[in-house]
Amino acid sequence: MTHSVLKCHYCGAEYTIDRNIYTCDKCGNILDVYHYDMEYSLTGLKGVWKYKNLIHPGINEGTIISKGEGNTNLYSNSRISEFSGIDKIFLKHEGENPTGSFKDRGMTVAVSEAMRLKFNKTLCASTGNTSAAAASYSSFAGIESYVIIPEKNISANKLFQAIAYGANIVDIEGDFDSAMDNVRKTIAKRNDFYVLNSLNPWRIEGQKTIIYEIMEKIKPDFITFPAGNLGNTSAFGKALMDLKSLGVIDDVPRLVAIQAEGASPFYNYINGKQESIIPVKAETIASAIKIGNPVNYKKAKRSLEFTRGIVEKVSDDQIMEAKRAIDRAGIGCEPASAAAVAGVKKLRDAGIMHKGDTVASILTGHILKDVSIIPEHKTLRISDIF
Ligand SMILES: *Cc1c(COP(=O)(O)O)cnc(C)c1O
Ligand SMILES: [Zn+2]
Repeated sequence: MTHSVLKCHYCGAEYTIDRNIYTCDKCGNILDVYHYDMEYSLTGLKGVWKYKNLIHPGINEGTIISKGEGNTNLYSNSRISEFSGIDKIFLKHEGENPTGSFKDRGMTVAVSEAMRLKFNKTLCASTGNTSAAAASYSSFAGIESYVIIPEKNISANKLFQAIAYGANIVDIEGDFDSAMDNVRKTIAKRNDFYVLNSLNPWRIEGQKTIIYEIMEKIKPDFITFPAGNLGNTSAFGKALMDLKSLGVIDDVPRLVAIQAEGASPFYNYINGKQESIIPVKAETIASAIKIGNPVNYKKAKRSLEFTRGIVEKVSDDQIMEAKRAIDRAGIGCEPASAAAVAGVKKLRDAGIMHKGDTVASILTGHILKDVSIIPEHKTLRISDIF
């Protein structure tokens, strides 16, 4: 029988999953969910919960809070191949999830866990998509959500979602990093909120399923994605460790985390071989990855080590150029997501990726998530065409 615990990767301490803790009592590092005697067997459920035995084997199916997340499309398109210089590039569209971003995959697991632990309030800091997902899943489960939002730093569309889904909005001066500080201070003082940021290890479990789905369909050499708070970077490495250790895959694709130039502390940390991460004041058009002090950097480093991964950075201009190509291909995504493809082009130009490689790029959010910038466009008059 599989048995799940909360485990500290760094000092080995273990805790029961019935405790509401996110960091190790002994050394302060962020905990992982660890499944003893895990088996690769798929359930008859759809999407994320098809992989229940790899993410939360012990939870009772009847208590799962799900809106049908996961099972997103993997697109190939000649315009994207042309733009990136890679023939076999596939775009995994996480904008197709119920609230429009991959955050739903983690949220279905974390909110199910909030219910299992009998919480009636959730809390998160957010650049936007986490709050939209937290608000939706909490309300769907019938509990209250509190979202700490740097209102001047979030897209109106995402704020709209959080308000409409019924979240309690806590507006702060400052940026995402100060919102996250507020979450950490709150949970240090009180234990009545269930935290839905990616320091919650159950969110990481849910986000692993992006990789399971990709690896079921193709054998990529590289998997690229935008990186902010590094929850996905952590989850993707963990997913590949699962598949490798269970004998499901032989070859491990290289993870490629792409940061925005103005918000690239992880790039500096890895490529500069720094002892610890040095926080920066984040600045980028891609608000979902406008994060200067990522909480998951240690777990993310472990993912890179396991996969011989790469961290790259791209400029806002490169992000918007890639977004135009993705949008014009009829696929579409929000600005942060386009960093995944901008990074492919940059690494192809640098000779690190090659035309014949197979690449999967993850589009993290929907095209309607941030419509503050209406693209330049020609307008026609009726008399021009008829
Ligand atoms: C949250 C988010 C990211 C960043 O993901 P991390 O796991 O925090 O690195 C990227 N893109 C979009 C659209 C997001 O919502
Ligand atoms: Zn520890």
